[in-house]
Amino acid sequence: MSSKRLRRLRQHAYEKQDGRCFYCSYLMWLTGSDDFARSHRLPPRLARYLQCTAEHLMARRDDGSDTVTNVVAACLWCNRMRHQGRAKKAPEALIYKAQVSRLVALRRWHPLASSGRGVSV
Ligand SMILES: [Zn+2]
Repeated sequence: MSSKRLRRLRQHAYEKQDGRCFYCSYLMWLTGSDDFARSHRLPPRLARYLQCTAEHLMARRDDGSDTVTNVVAACLWCNRMRHQGRAKKAPEALIYKAQVSRLVALRRWHPLASSGRGVSV
């Protein structure tokens, strides 16, 4: 797998999802954290979480492939939270998405949500 291929898949997913995270639906940035922070009036510290990353619906270690159907665009925060601190398997993508959506609605998910900033709309 080349990182170039993954970059292309990420770009493709980003465009297909209108620049929004697969899980939390927040707007993301591909390049230029500072510009993004400025145009959305976000503290740069928080804008960093909205970096667009390539997320494998089925993890690579579970034989998930680098294909258009298996790679979505997710913000750094959601990507990290799905995999962080888990000794075993990350939760299934759609189950995780449902959990994230519930928490987003309660404004308990993103560090940005609790700051009351409206990038999610
Ligand atoms: Zn997200």
